[in-house]
Amino acid sequence: MIRVRFAPSPTGYLHLGNVRTALFNYLFAKANGGKFILRVEDTDKERSRKEYLESQKEDLLWMGLRWDEGPEVDGPYGPYLQSERLEIYRTHIQKLLDEGKAYYCYVTEQEVEEMKHLAKLERRPPHFDNRGRNFTQKEIEERKTRGVKPTVRFKIEHPELSLHDLVRGDVSFNLDEMVGDFVIQRADGMPTFHMAVVVDDAFMKITHIIRGEDHLSNTPKHILLQRALGFPTPQYGHLSLVHGPGGEPLSKRLSSVSVREFRKAGYLPYALCNYISLLGWAPPEGHEILKWDELIHEFDLMKVSKSSSNFDQDKLNWVNGEHLRLLSDQDFCRYAMTYLKIQGLLTKDEDKVHGILPIFKDNIQRFDQLPSRLEVLNDEFPYEEIHCLQTPEGREVVQAALEVLTVQAAQPALDYQAFIDGIKPKVKVKGKDLFHPLRMALTGKLNGPELKRIFPVLGMEKVKKRLEQAQKS
Ligand code: GLU
Repeated sequence: MIRVRFAPSPTGYLHLGNVRTALFNYLFAKANGGKFILRVEDTDKERSRKEYLESQKEDLLWMGLRWDEGPEVDGPYGPYLQSERLEIYRTHIQKLLDEGKAYYCYVTEQEVEEMKHLAKLERRPPHFDNRGRNFTQKEIEERKTRGVKPTVRFKIEHPELSLHDLVRGDVSFNLDEMVGDFVIQRADGMPTFHMAVVVDDAFMKITHIIRGEDHLSNTPKHILLQRALGFPTPQYGHLSLVHGPGGEPLSKRLSSVSVREFRKAGYLPYALCNYISLLGWAPPEGHEILKWDELIHEFDLMKVSKSSSNFDQDKLNWVNGEHLRLLSDQDFCRYAMTYLKIQGLLTKDEDKVHGILPIFKDNIQRFDQLPSRLEVLNDEFPYEEIHCLQTPEGREVVQAALEVLTVQAAQPALDYQAFIDGIKPKVKVKGKDLFHPLRMALTGKLNGPELKRIFPVLGMEKVKKRLEQAQKS
């Protein structure tokens, strides 16, 4: 059975880049009847925060990426927080030490830094020269008395290897040139990321590791560790990075692309997933708007491109708008109401808001446009552009509208078509020049829902009041 994992470190909020990794893992698992596992990589005590972990879980659930195993859900291979698995890592580090595949290294951090510095000056890769392997007993004792705490380093014996990456194709590495013996346990006794990842992936029976391209250089280290520990090597797929507006890779530091910000802006979660899926992948039929079930059905990891992609806010808005149009009025209201309530933006009578919401379905792209649209319910509002009400033509339109209303007042219900038909012969202007002042008088805005939909929601009284108001402007 296919088993994949998303393994965030709780050191920041989820952003579009890492949530894409989560989504691709999820979709790959679901398309193949597999399991999606959430593992929390919280061994960096200084940078990990509970608040980040909570928000990461909340964001994943909001996006619909429910994990089959992980925190709160559990499963046969838990615990799923690395901070609760330290003993398992220790046992395996010890095993490598016992078998001579790793060694205590008394080279100090300062010496390592100096080596790196020198390499930089000489324009060489920052390669560790493995000097700690050959310390004599005397040197070690001398360092111990100086209080040097050792790290544990893994010996690189077979530095050349290659792999077939599901996204990038054939890749080969020479670790000798790249890094030299690498640390698997820090001087403070904590396992490094490399050790924890390898042990967990094996224990959790992960079959496919789908992660960001930024981890590609770690993969040979992981494969060597797997071999040394007798673990199978999973299939790897490294996703290209997503670049931000300035061309830089997206990161935790860019709050504008955090999932929290997308929630605040009022995107539909599955529309956001749909947009993210298009970063590096294209649906076979070319229909880019896919409902959640369709996305699960259509997505194909093997077709994901290895070139990097760019985040395009306009396209995201377009995708979201298209999804809004696909909703029934009832579902649109339900999602919109939930959004307004959660964001604390429901400041008007709930029934009135409910009654008017469907008229915005065709003309917004995201829910954060609603509060300003809902100003149409206010009795007083500023005019976005007053000029069109003050020209002689504009005044004529408003005047004519009021006259028609007076005649229509005898009718039981306000009839929009009769209202417009009544105005037309009384004025010189038509088309945009006729509708512009009317829209401005009735809503205070240049854009928005069709007037014929606003009209019945407002009712005779309000329409009349607003026209009178505009007349005075
Ligand atoms: N914890 C790592 C990160 O947040 C992911 C490691 C992995 O996927 O192997 O970048």
